[in-house]
Amino acid sequence: MSVPFSTSHPRTPFVFLPPNRTGEQARHLIAHELGHFILRHSRLGSRDAHFEAGKFAAAPLS
Ligand SMILES: [Zn+2]
Repeated sequence: MSVPFSTSHPRTPFVFLPPNRTGEQARHLIAHELGHFILRHSRLGSRDAHFEAGKFAAAPLS
């Protein structure tokens, strides 16, 4: 199973998504990974970092 992830080189962010996602799923995954960038999480995020990025991704919906 592939999972989304993000990285930057050296200051350009890249987000990689698993295939066969709907547009809505892809937008949420991109927002989650963007949250990691904006919140300056390390590459190997902790559970708290993923939770925080999830809240960031959901914020426009609330
Ligand atoms: Zn995450």
